[in-house]
Amino acid sequence: MKLLLVFLLLVSCAHVRGKFYTVTPCVNVIESEFPISQPAVDFDFGLARDILDARRICPREQFCTAFTGVRIHVRTGYSWYTNTSRGPVLAIGTYLQNKIDLNNTGSALLHELLHHLEAGISTDHDHWWEKGYYAADLEFGTLYQAFNSPPSGPTGN
Ligand SMILES: [Zn+2]
Repeated sequence: MKLLLVFLLLVSCAHVRGKFYTVTPCVNVIESEFPISQPAVDFDFGLARDILDARRICPREQFCTAFTGVRIHVRTGYSWYTNTSRGPVLAIGTYLQNKIDLNNTGSALLHELLHHLEAGISTDHDHWWEKGYYAADLEFGTLYQAFNSPPSGPTGN
């Protein structure tokens, strides 16, 4: 009986938390809890690659090598609480050991990719202004396409 309950619980969780997969250009597979548009993913990774290259943070030829193996998970919500060394904080994106979690817009994508570049160097935004990381992050935030935006095209009336 207990086993059946556990099984039913697992089945219902799997049903509630559906999984969708989108392939990113050269980086990896994105696992998301709702269907996200491939053009938005392509656009945002192209944008991240352009920004990192133009700001001499990561040359475009090294983009794929730098981020291969990073797992990306997109949540349905806009923000969630996460535990940090400073206590719980409200997050819209997190990076931990090759795994990026993003909110339903994906706005923190470049920020979390920067954390991956910093892995083993710093976890707390050390010298991010001096390195141009925050400027890159802000530029991405103004130009990215939200993962949860409706597909463009005729909208009817
Ligand atoms: Zn950060």
